[in-house]
Amino acid sequence: MANVKERQKNFFDVCGHCKIRFNCCWDAKPPITVNRERIIEDYLKTHGIHVEEPFVHAEYTFPKENADGHCIFYDKNTRKCLVHPVKPETCVAGPVTFDINRQTGKIEWYLKMEKICPLAGVMYRDKALLARHFEAARKEILRLVRELSPEALKAILKRDEPDTFKINEEEIEGKILNKAYQNN
Ligand code: SF4
Repeated sequence: MANVKERQKNFFDVCGHCKIRFNCCWDAKPPITVNRERIIEDYLKTHGIHVEEPFVHAEYTFPKENADGHCIFYDKNTRKCLVHPVKPETCVAGPVTFDINRQTGKIEWYLKMEKICPLAGVMYRDKALLARHFEAARKEILRLVRELSPEALKAILKRDEPDTFKINEEEIEGKILNKAYQNN
């Protein structure tokens, strides 16, 4: 599982002390591809973690939430993710997020503001850290948008990402652009 280690940086030294009550694992609804669903289910089984029907299959697939709105994989006691080594692509990428701009044909990269994510503030001040993380985040998100169905990608792009600012943009493959906006 060397690739798992490579894809998953642990920022727990910052995230473990986060004082924001409704943190990034609250109302997160990270998109789950068919492939990621299988990987997470295998991980749960292998590690003897029982979560009853962990996924919601709606406009797009995402982890179920607790009554208070936290992701079912969020452990409130440890403040860690139960599936950390195999967690969804957008969770690995955070605090980097994305949008696809129909007019420019580009994928745009955003960073959360420090007021909603202390880790983003740490990254913003440490440009080398941000550059390293951005490369990892970019790889995760590009894989995600390639693997998602058109319906799922469209549904995700409708979600607002307030309190973020643009840090980069690049051309996106035509087939992803078509998938995002076909029949719209
Ligand atoms: S999968 Fe893990 S990191 Fe992602 S929202 Fe759920 S608890 Fe948080």
